[in-house]
Amino acid sequence: MLNKPLPSLLGLTKDDMIEIFEQHDEPAYRAGQVLEWIYRHRAGSIDQMTNLSEPLREKLTEQFRFKTMEKVKVQGAGDTTQKYLFKLHDGRYVETVLIPASKGLYGDKADRLTACVSSQVGCAYGCKFCASGLAGLTRNLTADEIVGQLMEVEALSGKKINNIVFMGMGEPLANIKNLEKALDIITGQWGMNIGARHITISTSGLAPMIKQLADRPQQIRLAISLHGATDEVRDKIMPVNSKWDIDALFEALHYYKNKSNKRLTLEYILIKGVNDSLDQATILAKRAKSLKALVNVIPYNTVEGLDWVRPDDEHCHRFRNTVRDAGVTTTMRIEKGHDIDAACGQLRLKQETEEGIIKAPIKA
Ligand code: SF4
Repeated sequence: MLNKPLPSLLGLTKDDMIEIFEQHDEPAYRAGQVLEWIYRHRAGSIDQMTNLSEPLREKLTEQFRFKTMEKVKVQGAGDTTQKYLFKLHDGRYVETVLIPASKGLYGDKADRLTACVSSQVGCAYGCKFCASGLAGLTRNLTADEIVGQLMEVEALSGKKINNIVFMGMGEPLANIKNLEKALDIITGQWGMNIGARHITISTSGLAPMIKQLADRPQQIRLAISLHGATDEVRDKIMPVNSKWDIDALFEALHYYKNKSNKRLTLEYILIKGVNDSLDQATILAKRAKSLKALVNVIPYNTVEGLDWVRPDDEHCHRFRNTVRDAGVTTTMRIEKGHDIDAACGQLRLKQETEEGIIKAPIKA
């Protein structure tokens, strides 16, 4: 059973925690003790925080939630990619994916364990190839629901996550307030203590928030879902482009690059007959070079309810080689996720449709 929806201890920064303890006339060091129990000892409940007095534990239990979500399903096992479906306190669902160390995100062999987390239930941005946007946005995830995904996946898998990508459901920069709070908790030495350089945020191109993120002192990596090298092509599949076109987006990306000097990644899902011409590849290469960005080519992964098609392998290689031969570092990620509904949002969409929470997704 999920606890009642009280505020969650997982959504508190160290400063929040100190403030709460001060309000209860408890010394500030108690805040540090609670954080240690949560993030270092990974306590499963407030009762396990044995160096707190019993009355204080009772007070905390009355006022805070400890568990933010409940596991409903896990797909995949062992050293393969695993997808977790979690139920939230309001009956909605989110997905989190654990990508094993042997399978780097960009096709490389990585020595790290990556969690792909969601930032919203659904998404308002409606990219035409994406399952997450099919039923629109339900709500933002709170900071504790973002951090909670990581804590739950670690507890369930028994493994320590050392790399995080915000590439699950939702547009993280549309939920930047909660995202930034979650980042404080994830990167805090008193929190999950994961270095900012091991965190990648993926955005469809919210130019003002890209600049806001650039102004953070931490050097977070950024991946852009570009999927079209010209406005004409991008307009067809990414409605966000009507708000911030390619010029506005690249102006923000140059700002980010100059501020953080971190390598940017341009993600490019290849869809047959839509954005896969070699002209697009040439323009993409030019844009990537201006930012010294890496290009990740992703042959389209079928989404139930959508009619888009993946180009054949030969054409995918030709597209990739055109970008690479122009002097841009490229990777190509051939996803093999059809078996586990790997495209983000599909598992949640299925579950909520079956339960009648949302109507059957409308075709784009
Ligand atoms: S690709 Fe990202 S921004 Fe676009 S609809 Fe899907 S979740 Fe939203």
